[in-house]
Amino acid sequence: MSEEGKIRNLNFIEEIVEADLEAGKNDGRLLTRFPPEPNGYLHIGHAKSICLNFGLAIKYGGGTNLRFDDTNPVTEDTEYVDSIKNDVKWLGFEWENELYASDYFDQLFEFAKVLIRKGFAYVDDSSSEEMATLKGVPSMPGTDSPYRSRSIEENMALFEGMANGDFEEGTRVLRAKADMSSSNMLMRDPIIYRIKFAHHHRTGDKWCIYPMYDFAHGQSDSIEGITHSICTLEFVSHRELYDWFIEKLEIFPSKQYEFARLNLSYTITSKRKLLQLVNEKYVSGWDDPRMPTISAFRRRGYTPKAIRDFCDRIGVAKRDNLIDVSLLDFFVREDLNKLATRVMAVSDPVKVVITNFEEGLTETCELENNPEDPESGVREVPFTREIYIEKEDFMENPPKKYFRLAPGQMVRLKGAYIIQCDEVIKNESGELIELRCSLVKNSKSGQDESGLKVKGTIHWVSIPHAIKAEARIYDRLFKVEDPGSEEGDFKDYINENSLEIKELYVEPYLANATTDAKYQFIRNGYYVLDPDSRDGKLIFNKTVGLKDSFKIETAK
Ligand code: ATP
Ligand code: MG
Repeated sequence: MSEEGKIRNLNFIEEIVEADLEAGKNDGRLLTRFPPEPNGYLHIGHAKSICLNFGLAIKYGGGTNLRFDDTNPVTEDTEYVDSIKNDVKWLGFEWENELYASDYFDQLFEFAKVLIRKGFAYVDDSSSEEMATLKGVPSMPGTDSPYRSRSIEENMALFEGMANGDFEEGTRVLRAKADMSSSNMLMRDPIIYRIKFAHHHRTGDKWCIYPMYDFAHGQSDSIEGITHSICTLEFVSHRELYDWFIEKLEIFPSKQYEFARLNLSYTITSKRKLLQLVNEKYVSGWDDPRMPTISAFRRRGYTPKAIRDFCDRIGVAKRDNLIDVSLLDFFVREDLNKLATRVMAVSDPVKVVITNFEEGLTETCELENNPEDPESGVREVPFTREIYIEKEDFMENPPKKYFRLAPGQMVRLKGAYIIQCDEVIKNESGELIELRCSLVKNSKSGQDESGLKVKGTIHWVSIPHAIKAEARIYDRLFKVEDPGSEEGDFKDYINENSLEIKELYVEPYLANATTDAKYQFIRNGYYVLDPDSRDGKLIFNKTVGLKDSFKIETAK
């Protein structure tokens, strides 16, 4: 990186873009693209690519095309197209044009004929095994196919025949006549078109030949006038071919740049593998909150800002690395802390009876909705004689410095009174049944004149007002740090305890919870309403806990 780049904290792609703009390349124009194959839902790796491509356009006043790379008819589906559009929008980005590589099939067919006419492509009747054998190994030049010297006329006629459906699948391919002695195996006469009698989700049965990735991708970039075509490192060796096609076709010279894929610890980022998890029912769907997909993150309560900030923070690397997934949690927490309404929910309840509070009476307490947001106001929470507190907020024989409830000890109920535990009621087998407490008069929060200082504050819910809800608590989906690179099947490393279902008692305010709203169940974690909630049954997903185990200082 240049000195200036370092000072301004530019990533290497920004440096390239700035240099190109300064030099007046492409008439000072910047156009990037995000080119998903619609064969699955977008995951966090795609989010990185989206933030990078759209981010560059925003920063330098350019645009970004959303291009569906739908040249492979068998794996693609409009369900995926819709989810991808939805996810990109949700992440906060707007594309310049919505495009489909399949819209270029006619143009690509013409390009292929240009190559044939110029003597840069031929129809090969060899089997794939024969082709592989003739290609040979990188250390030694390959051998020409016996069909390499076909005449232009013959090639043209055969290629037209392929397109007309005259030949069976697998009998012929169109190959580039590139360089059979190149040390880059991709340059050894790569396949441009293959026969496939497959129905395409957009072009239907119009075609029975489909272009290969390398032929479609760069040409699509060029057709659209993409200035910077950014992809991941596995395409480094494809760059030579990318440039070769553009040069031979004499079309707009888009340029390819590669960066390192985002790999997250304890996470799989491969659509093919994620699809297996869905199909084999390890998860409930692409948006199961344990999945690393954008739709799962949304359902789990992550925010677009948190994902964007995370992508920003990890930067753009030139070498593969594994990012700690807790860094993502860190940004989720940061954002939710600003947004979430603080509410009370008790997960493992014990009943508390406040003996000196009138039976049948309901008093209201005012609680701040969000101390981080002065505009968020206050909320009324009902207080009655019988409440639930967390079992773990009581100890019969507490150690020193235990500041919660214990026999004879006082604690403050959040937003309400100071109470003291007078009596512990157990059943015959010695299990805790109920705590009988008394409240300190004049100790109500906001109007406390008791003069008492208690160190502990605990949350609670009024039993007659409490709503029973379900909490879904998630753990990592994989038990090992890098499940994608372990030996054997990645599914052997699935954490079978990644979902825990708990009952919760929540305050009545949450009867009107919506899936868009973010909540902090105080002293517990961030939660969001799950769309599975219906007919008055509330289901909450735990987004992330409150504790931050990640040290941001060491994240660099
Ligand atoms: P997968 O292996 O999950 O199918 P892919 O690269 O084949 O991923 P595409 O739909 O082709 O998926 O990807 C669209 C864009 O997203 C590409 O430009 C690709 O480079 C980028 N991308 C995919 N995965 C990652 C990742 N883990 N990190 C960064 N960029 C990614
Ligand atoms: Mg791909």
